[in-house]
Amino acid sequence: MSGKQVTGSSNLPVTRVGVLGFGGLGQAAAKVLAPKQEMRLVTAADKHGYAYCADGLDASLCISTYQSQGSVGYLEPFGKLTTESIEELIAVSSLVDGYFLALPNLPNDFITTVAKQFIKLGWRGVLVDAIKRTSAVEQLLEMHEELSEAGITYMTGCGATPGLLTAAATLAAQSYAEIHSVEITFGVGIANWEAYRATIREDIAHMPGYSVETARLMTDAEVEALLDQTNGILKLENMEHADDVMLELAGICPRERVTVGGVVDTRNLKKPLSTNVKVTGRTFEGKISTHTFTLGDETSMAANVCGPAFGYLKAGMQLHKRGIHGIFTAAEIMPQFVR
Ligand code: NAD
Repeated sequence: MSGKQVTGSSNLPVTRVGVLGFGGLGQAAAKVLAPKQEMRLVTAADKHGYAYCADGLDASLCISTYQSQGSVGYLEPFGKLTTESIEELIAVSSLVDGYFLALPNLPNDFITTVAKQFIKLGWRGVLVDAIKRTSAVEQLLEMHEELSEAGITYMTGCGATPGLLTAAATLAAQSYAEIHSVEITFGVGIANWEAYRATIREDIAHMPGYSVETARLMTDAEVEALLDQTNGILKLENMEHADDVMLELAGICPRERVTVGGVVDTRNLKKPLSTNVKVTGRTFEGKISTHTFTLGDETSMAANVCGPAFGYLKAGMQLHKRGIHGIFTAAEIMPQFVR
């Protein structure tokens, strides 16, 4: 990370942000950043290339290039086509302060490998992911020392769930002396599954009879055939979701008391149900009660993932500036609002 501080038109310090993975969430992230004064998109990468401009990239141009040609690597004059986009990008872009990893976690250790690449190349700064599986977050948590020594502040599980809802559960827990259950139920509505291929594949991996590996190996035609059978609906129960390990680590409750499930409609933007988290516990007076935090139905998955991801990136920047490195979860740090 460079010592030189960039300031925007309002004189707020500007964080130079990179988005790795430019699919559904990556493109939404670029749109979320566009009106921000404190953060600027300077680089984006996909499987076939990357674009980098230290003064800032135009989100709409990146998106139209990706959608029409299949890679931001075609963006003139800032793009480069390469199959090693992440490695090359890290090497050329030392001026990037923080990255949002909007990458598929397929296989289940992919994001861990990416984190190791950042360490190997000697990059210092803040990394944020919206990773979902317990086992994936556990692998990253084991890298605490390595990340710390490398001068990286890594914020994990910082999307919607895990992320926004896990943080809400942490806040709700404060009213209780003992937490009995944390029940997360999400509803997602998207117009077509192709807009979020990795998200849908990773969701299929939670269905009975499927694994991360079988879902990763499914062809698009096989995913479509499965969705045809279910009328485009995926019903998910008792998912392996990192909200459990994050809440356990934060001292809220043992992981067995945390459950996550939901319904995804891949053919309808309207949410099939309202996303919510219910936190049940006993107060110091012995009363049993439930706090419920419900997201507005009009808020999309992208809004509820990308907003928190950048809120945690800002919080991570503040930790990094204070010399605090290593790995932190969405349940232990409060996100900061990005202006
Ligand atoms: P997507 O399939 O739409 O896009 C993935 C992008 O990553 C593509 O641009 C692709 O080119 C790029 N990519 C793949 N391999 C790459 C590589 N080796 N190098 C560089 N780029 C590469 O993905 P999506 O649906 O936006 O999902 C992204 C991630 O976000 C998934 O892991 C998903 O589970 C996660 N997610 C988290 C939450 C949450 O609440 N925590 C919610 C939704 C999605």
